[in-house]
Formats: sequence, structure tokens, C-alpha cells
Amino acid sequence: MSKVHNFSAGPCILPQEVLKQASEAVINFNNLNLSLIEISHRSKDFIEVMDKAQALVKELLGVPEGYSVLFLQGGASLGFLKVPYNFMKQGGSAAYLNTGTWANKAQKEATRLGEVIEVASSKDKNYNYIPKNFQIPGGADYLHITTNNTIFGTQLKNIPISRIPVIADMSSDIFSKKINVSQFDMIYAGAQKNMGPAGTTLYIVKDSALGKTGREIPTMLDLQTHIKKESMFNTPPVFAVYVSMLTLQWLKDNGGVEWIEGVNQQKADLLYNEIDNNPLFEGTANTVDRSNMNATFVLTNEGLKDEFDKMWQAANISGIKGHRDVGGYRASMYNALPLESVQALVDVMKEFGQKFG
Ligand SMILES: *Cc1c(COP(=O)(O)O)cnc(C)c1O
Repeated sequence: MSKVHNFSAGPCILPQEVLKQASEAVINFNNLNLSLIEISHRSKDFIEVMDKAQALVKELLGVPEGYSVLFLQGGASLGFLKVPYNFMKQGGSAAYLNTGTWANKAQKEATRLGEVIEVASSKDKNYNYIPKNFQIPGGADYLHITTNNTIFGTQLKNIPISRIPVIADMSSDIFSKKINVSQFDMIYAGAQKNMGPAGTTLYIVKDSALGKTGREIPTMLDLQTHIKKESMFNTPPVFAVYVSMLTLQWLKDNGGVEWIEGVNQQKADLLYNEIDNNPLFEGTANTVDRSNMNATFVLTNEGLKDEFDKMWQAANISGIKGHRDVGGYRASMYNALPLESVQALVDVMKEFGQKFG
């Protein structure tokens, strides 16, 4: 099998050795002669997996005391609803920073339960920048942010200084760089962008922030349900948790978040440098807000589209077609994408430039 350079935006590339270990565990897990996916989630062998996955999250991100780590279902999209249920007071309000499609969807769910104050929006320029210097209403119950805008290729380089609790959707940049968990009352992230396969969603939540809304919360939406039962209130997504655990172990073995942050910076610099220096390409996101995870760019001459498409396809590059809301191209450079894959793309762009520039 020739090597495919997988730039998929999500579900995304995972380390080869993780895929190999995961496929072995599907046949014979821990030498039990049973599959990982056919044993009880209450068995000792699976409880060890869950415990280890949670411990790795805490270790890799330096999660302080007083926070719980949960692996739940429903995707980040159900997280959009869990946020107001668990953090917006009955009759209260919440502040949202509107930086793209996902931020907007999160905001929409909160309007079901109370007043939403949009502190700023970059919709006026098709979300190609991160608004700055906005006012955060002191009376709101929390500020919701989306740290990386997967579709538009922008990323928050600084977490807003806020007197009210901050809640962050980190689906597409968690574990890509160091963060300070104590700046947040909650972080949540679908696994399939940087941590594992689709099917589980990570929640890192400050215990003392819960139980204060005065509202009835449906059992499965109540984060306290899951904290009390250590992510085992109902059957957890065992395969997704296992593969996430393997991926986090891979990250730890290679040097952790500090290591990957450096690699991710190298990859992003390599690609953005080519986008900026090659006259046939143009980045779509505001330079200072560019995402290190998802680079969005277009051709300066749309007439050359078929030529460029033929060239990257011939180089075994996959998954760089842009999202329909932006057009052009999007190269997603998640943790498991090696530098050599970015180099392969840059080589094609250079060759394209020489041929048609
Ligand atoms: C992909 C994505 C989502 C949606 O995640 P699901 O797990 O599919 O619900 C939410 N937020 C961001 C930032 C994303 O990239």
C-alpha cells in the first residue's frame, strides 16, 4: 500500500501504531481471547482502560484538582446543549463569541434555555478573523468560546480575560498545544479531530461550578450524573474510549503536548510560508488568527483548479478539498499528521507554481 497523506478535517488521521493496536484488540484484547468490543464495560479490563484514559488526559493537560474528566456520547453537538443546561441559571443569560459555524450552533442551543448575548461576531467577513476587544457582560453566567474554527481556519491565540466563567469547545485543537485548564469552568471536545475515532466526547469540568442553575436537568444531560458514576452511568463507547486512550499514550510516549506543539508549529509554518510566497495561492484567514490545525487557502486563478487537483491527487494527497462554506482548499494538520505529509503538499504547490506561475 503506498502512503496516503491524509489531511482530512475529521474524522481524521490517527497514528499508524494506534490503528494497529486497536485492530488487534478488536480480535483479542489483553490476551483474553475476547474482543474489546464484546466484553462488559464493567469488567476489570475495561475499567482499567477508562481509568487510564482519564489519567492520561489529566497528566497531558495538567488538569488541576477539583476537575472531573468524562468520556461521554453525543458528540460536541450534544455538548452545545449540555452547556446551558449545566451552567445557565434559570432566568439567566450567557455570552457567546460567534467565530463560525460551530460557535453559532452552540449559541443556538443556548437560546432554547435563556437569553444569549452575542459579545462579538466575525460573520460580516465570513468568519475569516477572530473578533478582539469585545465587552464581556459581567452579569452573564458564562462566556462560551470555540478555540479553533475548523471550517474557517481560524484559532484563538489568547483566551479572553474574563471575570465570568469561560467554557470552551476545543474539538479541533485539544492536545495540540499547552493550555491552562484552570482558566476554564469546562472544556469539551469531540474525539474525532485530534484524539481518537468518532463516538466519544471529552469533558473536563470544574466540579464546584455544577449544581448551581436551579433548573431541572434531564438525567443524561446532567454532568453530575456522569461524574457520580465515573463516566459509567450507561454503557460508554468502549471502542472510541480505547482508541482515544491509545492515542493519548502515543502522545505521552513521544513527548506530550509540549512536543506536539512544536511539531504543529513547524507544520503550520511550512505550509503558510508556501501559501504566502507562492503567487498562485492565497490564504483565506486573517494572518494573525490563522489556525495551526486547519489551513484554508484558495487559488488566485480558479481556471487552474483542474490542473492543481490532478497534481495533488497524483502525489497521494487526500482530504484537502475545502468546506463548502469557504471553497478552495483546507489542509488539516492534526497531531498524527507527520511533517513529511505537509512537505509533500508543499512540494506539489511549488511544482505547480513552477509550471503555471
Ligand atoms: C467537528 C466540530 C464539532 C462537532 O462535533 P460532533 O462531535 O460531530 O458533534 C463541534 N465543534 C467543533 C469546533 C468542531 O470542529
